[in-house]
Amino acid sequence: LDEMLPPMEVSDEHWSEFVGLRDTMAVWSLTMIARVFYAAAASRANEITARPTSEHMKYCRNTAVCPACAGEQNTVFERRTA
Ligand SMILES: [Zn+2]
Repeated sequence: LDEMLPPMEVSDEHWSEFVGLRDTMAVWSLTMIARVFYAAAASRANEITARPTSEHMKYCRNTAVCPACAGEQNTVFERRTA
């Protein structure tokens, strides 16, 4: 986080505040909340376009389950082909 630029919508002040929380459970909690929102949005989407970088493809260790590498997204609820 220290080396990342803040997302365009986040002010420098709020980014610094967020980075200052990195040793607390706040960052982990926000990450989990973000994953829930992502999963909810993904489950409602008709199509998810993955654009894995060549760097990702080179080092991904989960090619069988990674939606970007496997070309499909499998969950306990459903199976989707990219
Ligand atoms: Zn992958």
